[in-house]
Amino acid sequence: MIYLDHNATTPLHPAVFRAMEPYMREQFGNASSSYRLGRSAKSALEASRKSIAGCLGAQPDEIVFTGGGTESDNIAIRGVAHALRSKGNHVITSHIEHHAVLNTCQDLEREGFRVTYLPVDSGGQINPDDVRSHIGAETILITVMLANNETGVIQPLSEVGKIAREEQIIFHTDAVQAVGKIPVDVNELSVDLLSLSGHKFYGPKGVGALYVRRNTPINPPFTGGHHERNIRPGTENVPGIVGLAEALLLATGSLPEVAQKLTGLRQRFEATVLRKINGVQINGRSAPRVHNTSNMSFQSIEGESILLHLDLKGIYASSGSACSTDSPEPSHVLVAMGVPAGTAQGTIRFSLGKDNTDDQIDYVMEALMEITARLREISSVRDK
Ligand SMILES: *Cc1c(COP(=O)(O)O)cnc(C)c1O
Repeated sequence: MIYLDHNATTPLHPAVFRAMEPYMREQFGNASSSYRLGRSAKSALEASRKSIAGCLGAQPDEIVFTGGGTESDNIAIRGVAHALRSKGNHVITSHIEHHAVLNTCQDLEREGFRVTYLPVDSGGQINPDDVRSHIGAETILITVMLANNETGVIQPLSEVGKIAREEQIIFHTDAVQAVGKIPVDVNELSVDLLSLSGHKFYGPKGVGALYVRRNTPINPPFTGGHHERNIRPGTENVPGIVGLAEALLLATGSLPEVAQKLTGLRQRFEATVLRKINGVQINGRSAPRVHNTSNMSFQSIEGESILLHLDLKGIYASSGSACSTDSPEPSHVLVAMGVPAGTAQGTIRFSLGKDNTDDQIDYVMEALMEITARLREISSVRDK
């Protein structure tokens, strides 16, 4: 099996599993209990908080544990919009956000908020000047992702952050695809809120965090006990949180090494595909990208057919994002980049991971050449 879908999810790092295991067995206490078993869970929780804050340039009390990326995005966007409703009703985001952000913004529109969706250029980047020109007296929140899950394109966030600071508008970023892949510092980016998710960097699924800068107004969407600064009530997922912290520490520690390896692998992969297969374009290639993602459109072939044939050869990739595989519509991200719908239909996202090898990439390139040649032959016979 050759797994090239790391933007959908990653395998659990063995060291992460080992760190979690005691908290699923003997150290099972509730972090809110005051006896020793509870106190030991509590101290693991607080050590994890401190470690995660350290990796992001944040303070420990600014880290709120959540049930993953989707939940962090929801708490941030709904939480700020509802807290500031009396101040204004305008939110700025982009056309290329993950559905966790897009569908949340659409929900706000149904509640009466006005949302501006910023366009992107053909490289997949927003223009910070557009952010500035859309800010008005009613603007209460800007939410723009750091790295796109389909193309890997990195957004010019520190420039957006500067504008948000100047205009005193709360700024959130969905950094789920960036954390663990590029250095992320909440102060360099000038963000007030930042979402991350464990299973995108070799941590466990169903656990994530939301960075919340001190004094950021937020109305918690859930009600319950007094956990996590009242922002996210519910008994903390201690084993998951311990795993999240361990995974982030490992990813941050090995970042330069993994980035270098994957940059080389992807460079060879893309150069070979462009040289050996006709009618291929790599979306977002002209923009800065995270080192692992390669989004390729193959002219006049269905992406789904390529995926099926790759699957038969034990190669796992995806068409666009994992969350939209059930919908036949072309990717909203590629459409926003101006990729024609027909071209977008022939798109495969390869997302590499730290354990992929040169040999695996060679095998995938051979397979792709064979599959695309065969599928094009069939479609040309059909067209005659
Ligand atoms: C995967 C992903 C999410 C959702 O995270 P979950 O932990 O799976 O809920 C949100 N945003 C982006 C950019 C993602 O890639």
